[in-house]
Amino acid sequence: MEEEGIEVVLDKYRKAGRILAEIRGEAIEKVKEGVLLLEVAEFVEKSIRERGGEPAFPCNISLNEEAAHATPSIDDETVFGNDLVKIDIGVHVDGYIGDSAVTVDLSGEHEDLVRASGAALSEAIKIIRDGISTVEIGEVIENAIRGRGYRPVVNLSGHGLARYNSHALPTIPNVRYEHGVILTENDVVAIEPFVTDGAGKVVEGGTVEIYGLIKAKPVRVSEAKKLLDEIQKYQGLPFAKRWLPRERLDLALRTLKTVGALREYPVLREEEKGLISQAEETVIVTKDGCEVTTK
Ligand code: MN
Ligand code: MN
Repeated sequence: MEEEGIEVVLDKYRKAGRILAEIRGEAIEKVKEGVLLLEVAEFVEKSIRERGGEPAFPCNISLNEEAAHATPSIDDETVFGNDLVKIDIGVHVDGYIGDSAVTVDLSGEHEDLVRASGAALSEAIKIIRDGISTVEIGEVIENAIRGRGYRPVVNLSGHGLARYNSHALPTIPNVRYEHGVILTENDVVAIEPFVTDGAGKVVEGGTVEIYGLIKAKPVRVSEAKKLLDEIQKYQGLPFAKRWLPRERLDLALRTLKTVGALREYPVLREEEKGLISQAEETVIVTKDGCEVTTK
């Protein structure tokens, strides 16, 4: 198989990152008390398509003790209140992904927590270069967070990005582990410290609005067959329930889940209901540093 040249590939990562950064700024402006979460999520996803990208995953809008995988349902009436809001956006161009998140503090009471995730991210970005170990990155992130009196969320981490793979290897931990891997030039990775005043661990919550195709499997229920055809276009990337045709959707989803064709992404929340802030950027590793694609 003929492969695309590395510069062509990197330019697609850059384009995805540029689209993301523009829309992220506009989305932040829309996060205000009384505004529907659904309005912001739909704005983000529509804007991505209008500017020549595709969502790499549904716009995640996670509140307070929620860390990730929350996205509005199709007729969601939830509005922003006095919340700590994480907006996590994914854009791909031809499968090459930009992944970035910000925290917006609508209460005005959690500046320190938000600053801690931002500082951990920028300190990590400062040390990334060809030859750096993920052990060092985890250590810098952990120290930045603990030094500010908070805890890193130990079971959430940054990750590699690959074509149509929003969670590729390597894992980039938010704490110091004994073993890691060495990053090399042209690796594309997402760095995403999560900071909490709770236990420092997330657990799966009840609701599921995000799914991903694991592998097509033979199914006899016609609604499930139709849905399987429909979701092939996401090429394994996560998609939202609200993006799907509504007719007998729950039956179709349940059937595909039962045969092992579908992965669910339940909402992740802090174990002790601590507040969570998150900051994330995507970077390309270079010889003596890194290039942030989502800046
Ligand atoms: Mn993300
Ligand atoms: Mn990510």
